[in-house]
Amino acid sequence: TGKVAFIAGVADTTGYGWAIARELANAGATIVVGTWPPVLKMFNMALKKKATDEAKKLDDGSLMEIAKIYPLDAMFDVPEDVPDDVKSNKRYAGVEGYTIEECVEAVKKDYGQVDILVHSLANGPEVTKPLLETSRKGYLAASSASAYSLVSMVQRFGPIMPKGGAVISLSYVAAVRTIPGYGGGMSSAKVRSTHPHLEFKHAPAFCVDSHLLRPKAQLESDTRTLAYEAGRKYGIRVNTISAGPLKSRAASAIGGDGEKTFIERAIDYSVDNAPLDQPLYAEDVGRTALCLLTDLTSAVTGMTMYVDMGLHSMGQSL
Ligand code: NAD
Repeated sequence: TGKVAFIAGVADTTGYGWAIARELANAGATIVVGTWPPVLKMFNMALKKKATDEAKKLDDGSLMEIAKIYPLDAMFDVPEDVPDDVKSNKRYAGVEGYTIEECVEAVKKDYGQVDILVHSLANGPEVTKPLLETSRKGYLAASSASAYSLVSMVQRFGPIMPKGGAVISLSYVAAVRTIPGYGGGMSSAKVRSTHPHLEFKHAPAFCVDSHLLRPKAQLESDTRTLAYEAGRKYGIRVNTISAGPLKSRAASAIGGDGEKTFIERAIDYSVDNAPLDQPLYAEDVGRTALCLLTDLTSAVTGMTMYVDMGLHSMGQSL
């Protein structure tokens, strides 16, 4: 209660970022979010609609309030990083101050400090290619948006986080295990245009994409190093949640072959093979996030916490 939480990577009500925001709001935190400029308008419009009331509903019946939405493009640290083609892109028109440094400055001006930082974003321009076909540029862009962005955020939010503050990000088990059918099988996948991102040159991010798995491996490794460095420097904790498959908007936008999308297959596989044979809900991840972000876990840092019905622990399917 009374804490300020900044959640990067919220643009609709279905993803992990939203579920985490809702749990934090339920616990009394002030919620501020960072949203990718190309989807900012759409998100603002959706929030005004009655249809989102259900997703906003807190346990006491009141509706979650997002105190402020900051534009944030996690590809850029400082204004000099923004290339001309992005500046002039019509999907960035009228939006300013979206680099990580400018965003942190704005949050600092508005709130003074941030107690909780959530990194719930990933992206890769070659989202549909298997690793064997991924270019250096595509690989590095995925790392930049999905992994370095956490390093940059901890660097810049760290100084405005009080001792005892906490950071989490979202990872995926494919960071440490090969998932057959993910990646390689993606080469023939048709990307359906169900998502507004798709006309844009950065496709939406999703973990089944093989070259995005490298950023997740980086994210988990960086979590340990950041936990040490930011722990010593600021007294804050850094953990990551390795989440099971969720039919988020970004995940659904990746197509499939025939009757099922990749994410639907991943969910079915989990229900068929995980120790707990139930579908995973975003709220499951939200509640664990809440736990990792409160003093209930004040001695826990540098951890990759699996929230996946236990699927990661299996060595063979039935
Ligand atoms: P989501 O669509 O809710 O979240 C992804 C967000 O990243 C979107 O809001 C998008 O606008 C934002 N984004 C993309 N590029 C950005 C950039 N350059 N700057 C700022 N924001 C940017 O989907 P999600 O599946 O809930 O993803 C949230 C996190 O969870 C991601 O890190 C994802 O890899 C991870 N994750 C997802 C699954 C899953 O099955 N959906 C499983 C494990 C981990």
